[in-house]
Amino acid sequence: MHSIFWFRTRQWVLSRVLHLTEHKKQTLLAAPDAVLLLPALFRKRRISRILLVTTPGFVRRGTLTSLLDGCKKENISVTIFSEIAPDPQIESVEQGFRLYQQIQAQAILAIGGGSVLDAAKLIGARVCCPKKTVPAMRGLLKVRRKLPPLFAVPTTAGTGSEATAAAVITDCIDGKPYKYAVNDLCLIPDTAVLDPRLTISLPSSMTADTGMDALTHAIEGYTTKAAWEMTDMFHLKAIEIISKSLRGAVANTKEGREGMALGQYIAGMGFSNVGLGIAHSMAHTLGAVYDTPHGVACAMMLPIVMEYNADCTGEKYREIARAMGVEGVDQMDQATYRKAAVDAVRKLSEDVGIPSKLEALKEEDLPFLAESAHADACAPGNPKDASVEDLTALFRKLM
Ligand code: NAD
Repeated sequence: MHSIFWFRTRQWVLSRVLHLTEHKKQTLLAAPDAVLLLPALFRKRRISRILLVTTPGFVRRGTLTSLLDGCKKENISVTIFSEIAPDPQIESVEQGFRLYQQIQAQAILAIGGGSVLDAAKLIGARVCCPKKTVPAMRGLLKVRRKLPPLFAVPTTAGTGSEATAAAVITDCIDGKPYKYAVNDLCLIPDTAVLDPRLTISLPSSMTADTGMDALTHAIEGYTTKAAWEMTDMFHLKAIEIISKSLRGAVANTKEGREGMALGQYIAGMGFSNVGLGIAHSMAHTLGAVYDTPHGVACAMMLPIVMEYNADCTGEKYREIARAMGVEGVDQMDQATYRKAAVDAVRKLSEDVGIPSKLEALKEEDLPFLAESAHADACAPGNPKDASVEDLTALFRKLM
């Protein structure tokens, strides 16, 4: 009870503090090839030594050649750190931090998926707090210092990390890998670059998974307890853009890639203010136990959780259905538009090739899964409270 009260108070305070500060703070470059504008921006900001955080794939594919040439022309020295694996570990952050100090960098440029962006945020946090370890930053508002300039360029269209105040890291606690978030306003990158061309190389299955993660951010953010008018505006727009764009992005169309780059960013702007719900809690648990890709787990849980939450969402499913392109929603009664919203989510997930059942799920794992999801940081934000028994019943629907 105490933790739910604390969470709600925190969400309320955050929703008011963040909306004053978050959206004034960030420079946004959004266009095909926007990444090529960066060398001139670095020069304008008198930055001449940069740590580029990325993955080996981006170096190998040569995607960054034009950007690196542009930096060379502007006499900007770029040191590449490409040791970031998916679900990054603290050791990668420490390596990046040491390299940043060694080269006396003045800024961090992060080009990659959420894993790279989050690792770069934490490298920045270590730079401004060299005496504080990453575990000591876990939780809320533990960094509290200005990071070096951070330029975030997402290459997946899902996490919205370039817009959020969070960085997710994998630690090892009692010999077991454990994921947690560091949340602080100073982690919001000062520049975000949405360059949809960088997402073209993302395989279609990963495009589908990460895109459904973004849709889950938008729908859970829209219906979470802390939602309010301003975040509703972001989330509804994100639902509309993602629903229109995801099928195209999976087919690698220009419009689809552009739409997803923008839609997932807008979802990030929204949920960063108000948190998420139990679809995310349950997806975190499935990821930890079965290695289910996060977006797949979100996509499987989302319609099931929407059905569970429906009676605590007022008219919101009418707006979700409308944003997802369902026709005639104004003529529908409550039960019909609620079903239409859930059906639209199921159809999108099916169209992009995500299964609705999880074969790996075993009856004997249900107690642990439900307990873990119940303890997850996203659970208290869910519009309808869910007990361990409720969560068990929801997990069972995946079988
Ligand atoms: P990811 O960054 O882990 O990347 C997945 C894989 O795709 C990697 O192998 C990567 O090298 C590859 N990849 C990325 N872009 C590519 C491209 N354009 N072409 C080819 N391959 C590419 O995936 P993600 O879903 O973007 O990020 C997941 C991480 O983000 C998780 O750790 C998750 O917990 C975290 N997350 C953070 C936030 C936040 O607000 N900070 C929000 C949600 C999730």
